Amino acid sequence: MYVVITGASKGIGKAIAKEFAENGYNLLLCSRNEIDLNKTAEELQTQFSSVNIKAKAFDLSKQAKEFGQWVLDNNITPKILVNNAGVFEPGNVYNEPDGLLEKQIETNLYSAYHLTRKLLPKMMEAATGHIFNICSVASLQAYPNGGAYSISKFAMAGFSKNLRQEMMPHNIKVTTVYPGAVFTKSWGNFDNSSNRIMEAEDIAKMIYAASQLSAGACVEEIVLRPQQGDL
Ligand code: NAP
Repeated sequence: MYVVITGASKGIGKAIAKEFAENGYNLLLCSRNEIDLNKTAEELQTQFSSVNIKAKAFDLSKQAKEFGQWVLDNNITPKILVNNAGVFEPGNVYNEPDGLLEKQIETNLYSAYHLTRKLLPKMMEAATGHIFNICSVASLQAYPNGGAYSISKFAMAGFSKNLRQEMMPHNIKVTTVYPGAVFTKSWGNFDNSSNRIMEAEDIAKMIYAASQLSAGACVEEIVLRPQQGDL
């Protein structure tokens, strides 16, 4: 069984890849930087030698359909698709640079929309599968410096909720994931020695657990926040 994960070279995507590989799933991974991506794929392949791991670099803000075609060309119908690739650039609507909305909509929404549309016909034919869409607590409410990022994540949640509704009769589960702050490279030099924010593995464990329920159950939403609340 194959799991397709976008933005898998680091952070939350890498933790999700590791969790599924550890549990015997084969992986198809994507991110932009080929060196980082191959390093992650090789690291996981060495650690989990019995699973099949393939990786290919694409800029999903522009090439989501191409990545989807590459998956199909490998003759693979994903059992699980994790739309995780994303960028966070803080800002305010009133003065953030021109283009910040477009960039984040392209990376955080269009990537998932176009990749999902490319893979869905095969998944619908198989009448089984599970799609996880990584949104954010910034999809649920306004935050200081949320700006265009928050707008793009609200849109991603809208995409995910509509997909859930559409896929009910096709036996494909859709889960919208809303993480609060997670300690990844996007947090730079943040000191998390007091566990103020979550670990990427926390998100990965919840996603894996949600993927293991019986055929009749779908976890529609997962909201995770740091124990001490949002920063
Ligand atoms: P991260 O550490 O910066 O990793 C992002 C991943 O996405 C990388 O593999 C990156 O690789 C890839 N990526 C970025 N732009 C891409 C593009 N155009 N095409 C293909 N791949 C691309 O980020 P993260 O913190 O793990 O975040 C992962 C997801 O969780 C994002 O959707 C983010 O919005 C969401 N999230 C994060 C937090 C948090 O606090 N960390 C909280 C809530 C939600 P390349 O740069 O090589 O492309």
